[in-house]
Amino acid sequence: MLTNDQLALWDRENFFHPSTHLAQHARGETPSRVIRTASGVHIEDRDGNRLLDAFAGLYCVNVGYGRPEIAEAIAAQARELAYYHAYVGHGTEASITLAKMILDRAPANMSKVYFGLGGSDANETNIKLVWYYNNILGRPEKKKIISRWRGYHGSGLMTGSLTGLELFHRKFDLPLAQVIHTDAPYFYRRADHAQTEAEFVAHCVASLEALIEREGAHTIAAFIGEPVLGTGGIVPPPAGYWDAIQKVLRKHDILLIVDEVVTGFGRLGTMFGSDHYGIEADIITIAKGLTSAYAPLSGSIVSDRVWKVLEQGTDENGPIGHGWTYSAHPIGAAAGVANLKLIDDLGLIDNVREVGAHLRARMAEALADHPHVGEVRGEGMLCAVELVEDRDGRVFFDPARKVGPQVSAAMLADSKVIARAMPQGDIIGFAPPFCLTKAEADQVVAAAVAAVRKVL
Ligand code: PLP
Repeated sequence: MLTNDQLALWDRENFFHPSTHLAQHARGETPSRVIRTASGVHIEDRDGNRLLDAFAGLYCVNVGYGRPEIAEAIAAQARELAYYHAYVGHGTEASITLAKMILDRAPANMSKVYFGLGGSDANETNIKLVWYYNNILGRPEKKKIISRWRGYHGSGLMTGSLTGLELFHRKFDLPLAQVIHTDAPYFYRRADHAQTEAEFVAHCVASLEALIEREGAHTIAAFIGEPVLGTGGIVPPPAGYWDAIQKVLRKHDILLIVDEVVTGFGRLGTMFGSDHYGIEADIITIAKGLTSAYAPLSGSIVSDRVWKVLEQGTDENGPIGHGWTYSAHPIGAAAGVANLKLIDDLGLIDNVREVGAHLRARMAEALADHPHVGEVRGEGMLCAVELVEDRDGRVFFDPARKVGPQVSAAMLADSKVIARAMPQGDIIGFAPPFCLTKAEADQVVAAAVAAVRKVL
């Protein structure tokens, strides 16, 4: 068996890691943590550390690790038929069944699902579909996409542009010209602290209206947003936000793409975030929780309205020129079928509501008096702790101080609990698997409290 030292050396010499400080890693300044196995909410590395993963990987292992039902479905599919493509009408029992299961769970106006591999490629698909849609409708100038600052939609060329986080643009010549950004519905960080929630929503609406006015509604194809901002800081919207935004979009005939890569299949305590906030999407992006990351699979669920135009387009222009070799990969589809069954059979969405509320309440209670905790927030099985320099004066930390990474590092080192320092640097994120117990939630809270007290 290879030693840990050997693996660490090969890792530094050969492996180009995503979202990593490459130079530091190559110099061995950041650890090569080699994960060996996992079960439930715990992962285990090759050094024998057993860590409670309170971020479910990258908020994707929703049913928890080591589920034999999904592993067996994958193995059976690989033995029976590891691959066949989905072009020109081909399918497998798994992919056809999964499409039906998704539509059975999706909001009523949804019509069909296109399968991809991950959230980024699904959002790339969505933008192409929106452009195609407007070309078929004879409005070739209606192509710009509105996204929000702090939104996260992937890191491809278009999706990295849609992402409203500077780190994902830096030195990549992004965003592309077709993408325009509007305000994040981030009530805690609103510029005018005297604003009420309703006033802040009115402000978000007014700035969206002004943007549409400036660019011209006839140039804008779609608006994309996550029901709850995820990577941008785990920020649920203020009350009334989605209703108000949808009114504006309808008025200007702008399609709405709801990115449910994180929120789809239960993370907010409802099947979709769209159900939770009463959002009527034209396209919904799904990935992560679709298979609980047991295999890569994503999807673009399109509404009746969009589908009708796509059909018209192919009658006029021939087959749609869009496809991936691995669209609807049978192994991903088999994982998806087993995963969605498990979510139902184990009543995991009920657990999201119950244990998620417990986690947030305990976290808020335990950190209520801490002068550097500005806010504890979340929804379903999502929780964030926002760290601030001065709570009363609402002074934020200089990101260069990296308080978030320090707190998450202390949680890991002292309590063996994984939380995520969100990219802006002063927010600790929690997105545990749905099967988290109340006792495990208490462990996560204790780890966070100890780390916040140690660092701040
Ligand atoms: N959309 C959202 C809301 C996400 O959170 C992510 C990833 O975190 C993506 C899209 C991109 O998904 P992927 O990393 O699978 O490409």
